[in-house]
Amino acid sequence: EKGLRRALHQQEFHLLYQPQYDLQTGSLVGAEALLRWRTQDHELISPDRFIPIAEKTGLIGPIGEWVLHTACQQTKKWHEAGAHSLRIAVNLSAYQFQRTDLVDTVDLVLKETGMEGNCLELELTESLLMDHAETNILTLTDLKVRNIVLSIDDFGTGYSSLSYLKNFPVDRIKIDQSFVKHLTERPSDASIIKAIIAMAHSLKLKVVAEGVETEEQLEFLKRHNCDEAQGYYLGRPMDTAAFCTLLEQGGIST
Ligand code: C2E
Ligand code: MG
Ligand code: MG
Repeated sequence: EKGLRRALHQQEFHLLYQPQYDLQTGSLVGAEALLRWRTQDHELISPDRFIPIAEKTGLIGPIGEWVLHTACQQTKKWHEAGAHSLRIAVNLSAYQFQRTDLVDTVDLVLKETGMEGNCLELELTESLLMDHAETNILTLTDLKVRNIVLSIDDFGTGYSSLSYLKNFPVDRIKIDQSFVKHLTERPSDASIIKAIIAMAHSLKLKVVAEGVETEEQLEFLKRHNCDEAQGYYLGRPMDTAAFCTLLEQGGIST
């Protein structure tokens, strides 16, 4: 906790950006912002290790705000440089979502950075949505009014009820990496993916596949009309400079 407090004040956090591609056109359409912590002694700590502590101590509040602000500020610069409709996805933790001031924070960040709501995507998890389902609908509706894109991260792994898909105003589903991982050798994973895509499309939701590591996985997803994909095969999470180079190389979707 002490380390995390210091990290906030000493600017030990930074964001990496992982590209997301449209599978029909092949163009780069968005990025997911992923938080990294490099400590004073240059140790790199993964978010899976420090986010739970940040949540427990409430520090995820200011940390999450920093992530949102930094990601929007950077994306606005990319928009101004020509990548007009590039979308940025930011992960939200349950603690942030349940704070009553989430919508105010989002409003403030959009105003301060000049970012348009329709280029900001917020990634929520199934368990986050399932707790306090009633109040969540109100928050989600407030965010939708601002044209913010809402997606469900790690879909298929949480303890949840599918009824929220018809009740909540979400736009996108991100198929969890665990299904993609063994997709070519496990017929059951392939079937689950096909079923998720079919269900999502009939509910008018877009589908993004996470953790695409091989050409075979990519071909399968394309063949079964998955809308977008991200993963090491397409591009690792990278720093701002590397992402700028990627944008300059083309593949900018306008
Ligand atoms: P996530 O949102 O599901 O992010 C995807 C994770 O998969 C990232 O791990 C990413 O680096 C990794 N990944 C991407 N492509 C591949 C691939 O092809 N193969 C494999 N094996 N992994 C891939 P990362 O960056 O370590 O983040 C872990 C989790 O930490 C994230 O999972 C997210 O839940 C959380 N997280 C990251 N940044 C933030 C943040 O700013 N706020 C909050 N609340 N949570 C965050
Ligand atoms: Mg995510
Ligand atoms: Mg995920």
